Amino acid sequence: MAAEEVKVCLASSDGRVGSGVLCVKTLGFMRRLLVALVWGVAVLLLTALSVFIPILHFVLVPLGLITTLLVALRIFATPKIILSGEGICGACSGKIHIRKRRFGLPFDDVCENCHRAVTIKSEKCGS
Ligand SMILES: [Zn+2]
Repeated sequence: MAAEEVKVCLASSDGRVGSGVLCVKTLGFMRRLLVALVWGVAVLLLTALSVFIPILHFVLVPLGLITTLLVALRIFATPKIILSGEGICGACSGKIHIRKRRFGLPFDDVCENCHRAVTIKSEKCGS
């Protein structure tokens, strides 16, 4: 499935604004289901191992089962992911690299040059 480019603006904590581009990939139903199943099985195996820890297994097993369900549902409910992205910091004009993560705007990141908090918003933020 092809990735699309999404233009964003990067608002630094002092109010200055830069621009950037995100590479966003839309995940299909079967892909999300497969990844959710793989992660669900992985967390379930860890939960199964916690059975062998004395006394703590009374807490760890129920927590593990709940975590398995939450992890699988969260992965399955993620239709888009940001593969990568980059932009210009509004405060220092340095390059900001955005790492792989769930797609959802706005989100916060930190400039690698000036270490200021940067909010990545949709393009319509009045730059
Ligand atoms: Zn900066």
